Amino acid sequence: MSNHAYRMLVLAGPSGSGKSTLISYLLQHCPNIYFSISTTTRPKRAGEVEGQHYYFVSQEAFIKSIENKQFLEWAKVHGHYYGTSLEPINKALKAGKLVLFDIDVQGHRSVKEVYKKATSIFITTKNIHTLKERLEQRHTDSHEMIERRLQTALQEIQEIELFDYVLINEDLELSKRMVLEVAHTLGYKQQMFPKETFCEAWGASHK
Ligand code: ADP
Ligand code: 5GP
Repeated sequence: MSNHAYRMLVLAGPSGSGKSTLISYLLQHCPNIYFSISTTTRPKRAGEVEGQHYYFVSQEAFIKSIENKQFLEWAKVHGHYYGTSLEPINKALKAGKLVLFDIDVQGHRSVKEVYKKATSIFITTKNIHTLKERLEQRHTDSHEMIERRLQTALQEIQEIELFDYVLINEDLELSKRMVLEVAHTLGYKQQMFPKETFCEAWGASHK
Protein backbone atom coordinates (compact mmCIF):
# COMPACT_ATOMS: atom_id res chain seq x y z
CA MET A 1 0.00 0.00 0.00
CA SER A 2 1.25 3.46 -0.85
CA ASN A 3 2.49 5.60 2.04
CA HIS A 4 1.47 8.63 -0.02
CA ALA A 5 -2.22 7.81 0.41
CA TYR A 6 -2.90 10.99 2.37
CA ARG A 7 -2.71 12.71 -1.02
CA MET A 8 -5.97 11.17 -2.19
CA LEU A 9 -9.17 13.20 -2.43
CA VAL A 10 -12.45 11.44 -3.17
CA LEU A 11 -15.50 13.35 -4.37
CA ALA A 12 -18.66 11.27 -4.21
CA GLY A 13 -22.37 11.90 -3.92
CA PRO A 14 -25.48 11.86 -6.09
CA SER A 15 -25.16 12.09 -9.83
CA GLY A 16 -25.96 15.71 -10.77
CA SER A 17 -24.72 17.18 -7.47
CA GLY A 18 -21.78 18.92 -9.14
CA LYS A 19 -18.77 16.61 -8.80
CA SER A 20 -17.54 17.00 -12.41
CA THR A 21 -17.97 20.78 -12.26
CA LEU A 22 -15.90 21.00 -9.07
CA ILE A 23 -13.28 18.58 -10.38
CA SER A 24 -12.79 20.71 -13.51
CA TYR A 25 -12.23 23.69 -11.25
CA LEU A 26 -9.71 21.84 -9.07
CA LEU A 27 -7.81 20.62 -12.13
CA GLN A 28 -7.45 24.21 -13.29
CA HIS A 29 -6.56 25.74 -9.93
CA CYS A 30 -4.56 23.14 -8.05
CA PRO A 31 -0.97 22.47 -9.11
CA ASN A 32 0.40 18.95 -9.24
CA ILE A 33 -2.95 17.23 -9.38
CA TYR A 34 -4.00 14.05 -11.19
CA PHE A 35 -7.57 13.02 -11.99
CA SER A 36 -8.21 9.29 -11.83
CA ILE A 37 -9.91 8.55 -15.15
CA SER A 38 -12.36 5.73 -14.64
CA THR A 39 -13.23 3.00 -17.11
CA THR A 40 -16.92 2.53 -17.85
CA THR A 41 -19.33 0.54 -19.98
CA ARG A 42 -21.82 3.45 -20.02
CA PRO A 43 -22.38 5.10 -23.43
CA LYS A 44 -20.48 8.32 -24.04
CA ARG A 45 -22.48 11.52 -23.48
CA ALA A 46 -22.38 14.46 -25.87
CA GLY A 47 -19.25 16.48 -25.09
CA GLU A 48 -17.42 13.67 -23.31
CA VAL A 49 -13.93 12.82 -24.52
CA GLU A 50 -12.37 9.34 -24.48
CA GLY A 51 -9.38 9.33 -22.11
CA GLN A 52 -10.34 12.65 -20.56
CA HIS A 53 -13.69 11.98 -18.87
CA TYR A 54 -13.63 8.19 -19.03
CA TYR A 55 -12.22 5.25 -20.92
CA PHE A 56 -15.30 3.84 -22.64
CA VAL A 57 -15.14 0.07 -23.09
CA SER A 58 -17.40 -2.89 -23.85
CA GLN A 59 -18.74 -5.10 -21.08
CA GLU A 60 -16.45 -7.95 -22.25
CA ALA A 61 -13.37 -5.73 -22.03
CA PHE A 62 -14.44 -4.52 -18.58
CA ILE A 63 -14.89 -8.05 -17.25
CA LYS A 64 -11.48 -9.00 -18.63
CA SER A 65 -9.95 -6.09 -16.70
CA ILE A 66 -11.65 -7.32 -13.51
CA GLU A 67 -10.16 -10.77 -14.09
CA ASN A 68 -6.73 -9.24 -14.72
CA LYS A 69 -7.02 -7.43 -11.36
CA GLN A 70 -6.54 -4.09 -13.05
CA PHE A 71 -8.95 -2.25 -10.76
CA LEU A 72 -8.46 -0.87 -7.30
CA GLU A 73 -12.25 -0.94 -7.10
CA TRP A 74 -15.18 -1.32 -9.42
CA ALA A 75 -18.96 -1.11 -9.05
CA LYS A 76 -22.17 -1.36 -11.01
CA VAL A 77 -23.96 2.00 -10.96
CA HIS A 78 -27.29 2.64 -12.73
CA GLY A 79 -26.86 -0.61 -14.65
CA HIS A 80 -23.36 0.14 -15.98
CA TYR A 81 -19.90 -0.90 -14.81
CA TYR A 82 -17.42 1.70 -13.54
CA GLY A 83 -13.87 0.98 -12.36
CA THR A 84 -10.76 2.73 -11.06
CA SER A 85 -7.44 1.46 -12.45
CA LEU A 86 -4.73 0.91 -9.87
CA GLU A 87 -1.54 1.46 -11.86
CA PRO A 88 -1.91 5.15 -12.86
CA ILE A 89 -2.89 6.03 -9.29
CA ASN A 90 0.21 4.44 -7.80
CA LYS A 91 2.33 6.20 -10.40
CA ALA A 92 0.77 9.59 -9.65
CA LEU A 93 1.10 9.11 -5.88
CA LYS A 94 4.77 8.15 -6.24
CA ALA A 95 5.30 11.31 -8.32
CA GLY A 96 3.94 13.32 -5.34
CA LYS A 97 0.68 14.28 -7.03
CA LEU A 98 -2.67 14.82 -5.41
CA VAL A 99 -5.00 12.17 -6.82
CA LEU A 100 -8.65 13.12 -7.34
CA PHE A 101 -11.49 10.62 -7.64
CA ASP A 102 -15.04 11.04 -8.89
CA ILE A 103 -16.59 7.75 -7.77
CA ASP A 104 -19.82 6.52 -6.23
CA VAL A 105 -20.38 5.68 -2.55
CA GLN A 106 -19.49 1.99 -3.06
CA GLY A 107 -16.18 3.09 -4.61
CA HIS A 108 -15.64 5.47 -1.70
CA ARG A 109 -16.04 2.62 0.79
CA SER A 110 -13.57 0.46 -1.14
CA VAL A 111 -10.97 3.24 -1.39
CA LYS A 112 -11.25 3.99 2.35
CA GLU A 113 -10.80 0.30 3.14
CA VAL A 114 -7.51 0.17 1.26
CA TYR A 115 -6.34 3.74 1.85
CA LYS A 116 -7.44 4.75 5.34
CA LYS A 117 -5.70 8.11 5.07
CA ALA A 118 -7.61 9.17 1.97
CA THR A 119 -9.79 12.28 2.40
CA SER A 120 -13.36 12.38 1.14
CA ILE A 121 -16.05 14.96 0.45
CA PHE A 122 -19.72 14.10 0.02
CA ILE A 123 -21.11 16.52 -2.57
CA THR A 124 -24.85 17.01 -2.55
CA THR A 125 -27.65 19.41 -3.40
CA LYS A 126 -29.79 20.71 -0.52
CA ASN A 127 -32.69 18.38 -1.47
CA ILE A 128 -33.93 15.98 -4.14
CA HIS A 129 -35.93 18.68 -6.00
CA THR A 130 -32.79 20.68 -6.71
CA LEU A 131 -31.03 17.51 -7.81
CA LYS A 132 -33.86 16.73 -10.25
CA GLU A 133 -33.71 20.28 -11.66
CA ARG A 134 -29.94 20.02 -12.17
CA LEU A 135 -30.21 16.66 -13.92
CA GLU A 136 -32.99 18.03 -16.15
CA GLN A 137 -31.04 21.18 -16.97
CA ARG A 138 -27.93 19.16 -17.84
CA HIS A 139 -29.88 17.55 -20.72
CA THR A 140 -27.74 14.41 -20.73
CA ASP A 141 -30.15 11.81 -19.37
CA SER A 142 -33.55 10.47 -20.37
CA HIS A 143 -36.52 10.92 -18.04
CA GLU A 144 -36.19 7.26 -17.06
CA MET A 145 -32.48 7.61 -16.31
CA ILE A 146 -33.11 10.72 -14.21
CA GLU A 147 -35.67 8.80 -12.12
CA ARG A 148 -33.11 6.03 -11.65
CA ARG A 149 -30.43 8.52 -10.56
CA LEU A 150 -32.86 10.09 -8.06
CA GLN A 151 -33.66 6.69 -6.56
CA THR A 152 -29.94 5.95 -6.22
CA ALA A 153 -29.43 9.37 -4.59
CA LEU A 154 -31.87 8.43 -1.80
CA GLN A 155 -29.64 5.45 -0.96
CA GLU A 156 -26.39 7.37 -1.37
CA ILE A 157 -27.26 9.96 1.28
CA GLN A 158 -27.45 7.13 3.84
CA GLU A 159 -23.62 6.95 3.59
CA ILE A 160 -23.03 10.61 4.43
CA GLU A 161 -21.53 9.89 7.86
CA LEU A 162 -18.68 7.87 6.34
CA PHE A 163 -17.23 11.02 4.76
CA ASP A 164 -14.70 13.49 6.17
CA TYR A 165 -16.52 16.52 4.75
CA VAL A 166 -19.99 17.31 3.44
CA LEU A 167 -20.58 20.01 0.88
CA ILE A 168 -24.07 21.24 0.03
CA ASN A 169 -23.37 22.64 -3.40
CA GLU A 170 -25.68 25.68 -3.55
CA ASP A 171 -23.54 28.70 -4.34
CA LEU A 172 -21.05 27.38 -6.90
CA GLU A 173 -18.38 30.01 -6.12
CA LEU A 174 -18.45 29.08 -2.41
CA SER A 175 -18.30 25.39 -3.26
CA LYS A 176 -15.26 25.91 -5.50
CA ARG A 177 -13.51 27.73 -2.64
CA MET A 178 -14.36 24.95 -0.20
CA VAL A 179 -12.99 22.11 -2.35
CA LEU A 180 -9.84 24.10 -3.07
CA GLU A 181 -9.34 24.72 0.67
CA VAL A 182 -9.73 21.04 1.45
CA ALA A 183 -7.29 20.15 -1.33
CA HIS A 184 -4.77 22.60 0.14
CA THR A 185 -5.08 21.14 3.66
CA LEU A 186 -3.83 17.78 2.39
CA GLY A 187 -0.38 19.34 2.21
CA TYR A 188 -0.51 19.85 5.99
CA LYS A 189 -1.48 16.32 6.90
CA GLN A 190 0.54 14.73 9.69
CA GLN A 191 1.97 12.20 7.22
CA MET A 192 3.77 15.03 5.41
CA PHE A 193 6.17 15.05 8.33
CA PRO A 194 7.53 11.52 8.67
CA LYS A 195 8.14 10.84 12.37
CA GLU A 196 11.54 9.23 11.79
CA THR A 197 12.98 12.27 9.95
CA PHE A 198 11.34 14.66 12.37
CA CYS A 199 12.71 12.91 15.46
CA GLU A 200 16.18 12.84 13.91
CA ALA A 201 16.04 16.60 13.33
CA TRP A 202 15.09 17.01 17.01
CA GLY A 203 17.73 14.61 18.22
CA ALA A 204 14.91 12.61 19.82
CA SER A 205 14.55 8.85 19.86
CA HIS A 206 11.79 7.29 17.87
CA LYS A 207 9.91 4.03 18.32
P1 ADP B 1 -22.05 15.31 -11.34
O1 ADP B 1 -20.66 15.27 -11.91
O2 ADP B 1 -22.06 15.19 -9.84
O3 ADP B 1 -22.98 14.33 -11.99
P2 ADP B 1 -22.27 17.91 -12.73
O4 ADP B 1 -20.97 18.57 -12.36
O5 ADP B 1 -22.40 17.35 -14.10
O6 ADP B 1 -22.66 16.78 -11.63
O7 ADP B 1 -23.42 18.98 -12.44
C1 ADP B 1 -24.78 18.72 -12.79
C2 ADP B 1 -25.40 20.00 -13.42
O8 ADP B 1 -25.55 20.97 -12.40
C3 ADP B 1 -24.51 20.61 -14.50
O9 ADP B 1 -25.33 21.10 -15.53
C4 ADP B 1 -23.78 21.75 -13.76
O10 ADP B 1 -23.44 22.80 -14.64
C5 ADP B 1 -24.85 22.19 -12.75
N1 ADP B 1 -24.31 22.72 -11.47
C6 ADP B 1 -23.24 22.29 -10.76
N2 ADP B 1 -23.10 23.00 -9.61
C7 ADP B 1 -24.12 23.90 -9.58
C8 ADP B 1 -24.54 24.92 -8.65
N3 ADP B 1 -23.88 25.16 -7.50
N4 ADP B 1 -25.64 25.64 -8.96
C9 ADP B 1 -26.33 25.40 -10.10
N5 ADP B 1 -26.00 24.47 -11.04
C10 ADP B 1 -24.90 23.71 -10.77
P1 5GP C 1 -21.90 9.24 -14.50
O1 5GP C 1 -22.58 8.20 -15.34
O2 5GP C 1 -22.87 10.33 -14.05
O3 5GP C 1 -20.64 9.78 -15.09
O4 5GP C 1 -21.46 8.52 -13.14
C1 5GP C 1 -22.39 7.78 -12.40
C2 5GP C 1 -21.81 7.46 -11.03
O5 5GP C 1 -20.69 6.56 -11.17
C3 5GP C 1 -21.28 8.70 -10.30
O6 5GP C 1 -21.72 8.61 -8.95
C4 5GP C 1 -19.80 8.56 -10.40
O7 5GP C 1 -19.15 9.15 -9.30
C5 5GP C 1 -19.64 7.04 -10.36
N1 5GP C 1 -18.34 6.58 -10.86
C6 5GP C 1 -17.60 7.08 -11.88
N2 5GP C 1 -16.45 6.40 -12.01
C7 5GP C 1 -16.45 5.45 -11.04
C8 5GP C 1 -15.51 4.44 -10.65
O8 5GP C 1 -14.44 4.25 -11.22
N3 5GP C 1 -15.87 3.66 -9.60
C9 5GP C 1 -17.05 3.81 -8.93
N4 5GP C 1 -17.30 2.99 -7.90
N5 5GP C 1 -17.95 4.74 -9.28
C10 5GP C 1 -17.65 5.55 -10.32
